[in-house]
Amino acid sequence: MSLTQIGPVYSGRASAVRAGEVVLSLVASGLVGMQGWTGVRRLQHPYDRSLQLGLDRLAALCVRAGRDAPVGVQDLVGVWCAERPVDSWPLEFDADAQVDGERLLIGGEPSEFCLEWAVSAQDVVSEVHEGTLVKEIKKMAAQLGRPELYARWRLFVTEHAVLGPDEFMAAKNAVLDVPQWATWMEESYGRVTAEVTLGGRVAVCGGCGQWVAPRADGRVRCGVWRCARRADLPEPVWVEAQGARRLEPELVRFVALPGAPELDLARRLAARGARVVLYPKLDALDLVAVWPNGFSVGVDVKDWRSPYLLARRIKTFPTWGTDDPHAYSRGFLVVPHDRLRANRSYVKILTRRSEALRAQPQIEVVSDRDLVASCPDLGTLGEVVCGP
Ligand SMILES: [Zn+2]
Repeated sequence: MSLTQIGPVYSGRASAVRAGEVVLSLVASGLVGMQGWTGVRRLQHPYDRSLQLGLDRLAALCVRAGRDAPVGVQDLVGVWCAERPVDSWPLEFDADAQVDGERLLIGGEPSEFCLEWAVSAQDVVSEVHEGTLVKEIKKMAAQLGRPELYARWRLFVTEHAVLGPDEFMAAKNAVLDVPQWATWMEESYGRVTAEVTLGGRVAVCGGCGQWVAPRADGRVRCGVWRCARRADLPEPVWVEAQGARRLEPELVRFVALPGAPELDLARRLAARGARVVLYPKLDALDLVAVWPNGFSVGVDVKDWRSPYLLARRIKTFPTWGTDDPHAYSRGFLVVPHDRLRANRSYVKILTRRSEALRAQPQIEVVSDRDLVASCPDLGTLGEVVCGP
């Protein structure tokens, strides 16, 4: 054993790639996890532990590569993360990870690339990435024998970012026979605080429908990828902040934003005559759509920038008997068409990298547009429901 050796030795290319991914995940989750994050210039102690860990590992790899290392967290965040694309860091990445030109911070805020790498780091700790509230609602809905309550809660929070006092009261009282429902609403919606208001009002993005906190310069600009790239993004809608509630940030990111393309697809299938069940069997799939003539599809919608990271999160599709109320004949993994248009290698990388897709070659990866176009159109309006 060499006494001068620092840390583990990465001999093969695979372990070098692994080391690079660990650094990226640590730094990304550190940036996302920093308490009171308000931009690079107002960087404050204490730093997230994973940011410090990421810095230490990155510095060690820089030394080994004979390159200048970041001199501290300030340098890492303000220069490396904000100005340098990740492919210029002395790390090795798999080509499928598509890191070229990607920066972790854009305009002082974690980029979508950063958010996805941060989520992938959390997966290391907990295989199922779900907040405690989501787990609690699932568990309680199962215990009550009312799985549709989970779907109904999910549908509600996806459609409502900000609630005025009367709307919040009505939401809490929407399911009177289940006292837990009011508690779920209390925990899903927090009070609107001063940081998210401007002139006594809260901005709701005209694109994604989510509340947007004003930036330090007083401007309101939605950071969601789909909104940020739209030239025709509608102006925000302003809601009176007095007594209002806004969806908890974690539910915005992990439930409402991913839920929007799911719901949109459900409505487009219903418009062609299908009966669409949302989140059957406590989210075993995103939706099952059945047409009166017997045509049926089971669908999971995945709205990720990186097919490389998404591939790790795809689960095998459930197989249900034909007598099951949610039985479906064909399974589809749907990726929003704008993701596929922005990345021509998307489907190739996804299918090459996903063990679940290799194990179930009958599951088709398609865009939402292609799926809708391939389904029957009866010319009658179907429905979107939360239970069988
Ligand atoms: Zn938006």
